[in-house]
Amino acid sequence: MMANVIAAIDALTEIILANKEKLTELDAAIGDADHGINMARGFEAVHAKLATAGSDDIGGVLKMSGMTLISTVGGAAGPLYGTAFIRMAAAAQGKTTIDTETAEAMFEAAIGGIKERGKAVRGEKTMLDALEPAYEAFSQGMAEGEDLLRCLELATDAAGKGVEYTKTIIATKGRASYLGERSLGHQDAGATSTYLMLAALTAFAKKYSREA
Ligand code: ADP
Ligand code: MG
Repeated sequence: MMANVIAAIDALTEIILANKEKLTELDAAIGDADHGINMARGFEAVHAKLATAGSDDIGGVLKMSGMTLISTVGGAAGPLYGTAFIRMAAAAQGKTTIDTETAEAMFEAAIGGIKERGKAVRGEKTMLDALEPAYEAFSQGMAEGEDLLRCLELATDAAGKGVEYTKTIIATKGRASYLGERSLGHQDAGATSTYLMLAALTAFAKKYSREA
């Protein structure tokens, strides 16, 4: 499944571009109104790079994408997502296709990278509040013998709930933390972009599994 990693990343680019304004609006409420702009700039650069990549080696493509995100995105999220991609690249190194075990390892590596770089934990109103529950739902699905697509669906649902949860907590990392209690009631932009990318990946996997 998901042999074409470039097409999968293009699906991420598409959903980020389609939600550029929405992500920026969310960041405007409790940040500095640039998350959608940052993410769109990063993924447009990734798209341009991959269009001339000449290889669809999974590890190589993910690494190149991560490095591009780090170098083109000014905000906090760029280096965090970039690190996640580079860690996922390492977890997928040498793979020509992504099975459920590899996907789980990639998930875990991405979370480890974000935590290390951002020094955040779950419950601080960041992308981790979508990504960690998504990973847990993915792993649980796997333990119950679900296939990759179903695991991704479970992960996406959990990420969506995580986004809702960010409305109920105070930010203690990132720019939103400057607002303290005033960050309550607002959903985190980074958790939202994480959810959107998982949703796009799931839709891509669904389409791919039908075509395969
Ligand atoms: P900036 O905050 O520099 O303007 P962005 O607006 O692009 O960068 O991204 C903001 C998002 O980054 C937040 O909504 C949050 O999800 C995430 N974020 C910020 N700081 C951290 C951190 N230390 N760890 C994890 N995620 C973080
Ligand atoms: Mg911002």
